[in-house]
Amino acid sequence: MQNNWHQLLQFDQQHIWHPYAKSPSATPAIGVQKTKGSIITLANNQELVDGMSSWWACIHGYNHPTIQQAMHEQIEQMPHIMFGGLTHQPAIELAKRLIKLTPSGLDKVFFSDSGSVAVEVAIKMALQYWISLKKPQKKQLLMVKNGYHGDTFATMAICDPDNGMHAIFNNPLIQHHFASAPQMGFDLASDDRDINDFKALLSQHHQSIAAVVIEPIVQGAGGMRFYRPDYLAQINQLCQSYNVLLIVDEIATGFGRTGKLFACEWADITPDILCLGKALTGGNLTLAATLATSKISEAISQGNPGLLMHGPTFMANPLACATAIASIDLLLASPWKQNIQQIERHLKQALLPLNGLTGIKEARVLGAIGVIELDRADLGETIQAQAVQQGVWLRPFGSLIYTMPAYNIPQLQLQQLTDGMITAVKAALSD
Ligand SMILES: *Cc1c(COP(=O)(O)O)cnc(C)c1O
Repeated sequence: MQNNWHQLLQFDQQHIWHPYAKSPSATPAIGVQKTKGSIITLANNQELVDGMSSWWACIHGYNHPTIQQAMHEQIEQMPHIMFGGLTHQPAIELAKRLIKLTPSGLDKVFFSDSGSVAVEVAIKMALQYWISLKKPQKKQLLMVKNGYHGDTFATMAICDPDNGMHAIFNNPLIQHHFASAPQMGFDLASDDRDINDFKALLSQHHQSIAAVVIEPIVQGAGGMRFYRPDYLAQINQLCQSYNVLLIVDEIATGFGRTGKLFACEWADITPDILCLGKALTGGNLTLAATLATSKISEAISQGNPGLLMHGPTFMANPLACATAIASIDLLLASPWKQNIQQIERHLKQALLPLNGLTGIKEARVLGAIGVIELDRADLGETIQAQAVQQGVWLRPFGSLIYTMPAYNIPQLQLQQLTDGMITAVKAALSD
């Protein structure tokens, strides 16, 4: 490694916070020189096969030439302009695509800069909706446990109350309702008992509940759990019969990851409000969107003050919007469904045989998501280091060792990825 890198990493370790980390940190972050496709080249020139898609986002791999071309063109034309009172083609063309591709009825688009903010805006829309309809008492939210919706204050308050940040920030957080999480298993037979807790909470508190917020089919950072589509359909049904809005958080699942373009499609539902982020730009720039039905926008417009009360400085950044358009067009022009089915078949073949081994709680796969859940929660760092030795980039958390590769990862690299993952897990378990 160059001398220069040594100093850079030392500075990083002393002065820069990384996600959920100490500063100064005990272990240095790993320096990265460059990326290409599903390969990450480290500062020491080692190449890693990427198993994370930079947290669900880089669905086409890194530095995709088509997306880079679109980014270059937009940089030449207009990288940024304020969105207050002004508009531009990238925002309009992107909104058209999102309205067309998401479940029908979602035809109002709010652009923001990160997933957490997209959820904040969704909550604000729901609260303003009820304020406009003169039911301001409807201001609480109902979630299922094991959810994750972001790191800002409103979103922290709706993450899982046990594995989220409630214990630390309890006082400033608004108290909401949490129903038991759905039983784990995408293919489980439907079981009406599963919904009972949710139903009971809704029937008891619906008069003070503005909206239900849920991740469809896959609960991501709250446990990497997969649940049955009919549970989501039941939730949708119950929201309608109790006059409570449904906010679906597709920030992790959107743009094909589960095998459908949007995970809502598994249950054939249209929520009142939908949140998108992560893979929206193919992981190239930060951008998020909150979509709503006209029912929501019209009610807000007719209320007081009649305006949706949000407006980020970098709202609908043209460069990010142009990047998102290129990513979506690239996705739709690719055989993405077959690619994801192929990844799913491979992940199942490679990971499911781990079920039954000592130390493995469960290995599970859905779409292009593979999860190995261990009995122990203290092996993540060891497994990450072992995986790097195997030439693979993983970012375990707690007992969860998981991968969500780019949809176009070459078969050989996918094989290296699962081989490295399994070797790392087995090595850590046998130590
Ligand atoms: C990542 C994520 C968020 C938060 O998005 P950020 O861009 O990190 O703020 C919200 N909801 C879900 C389901 C996510 O996976």
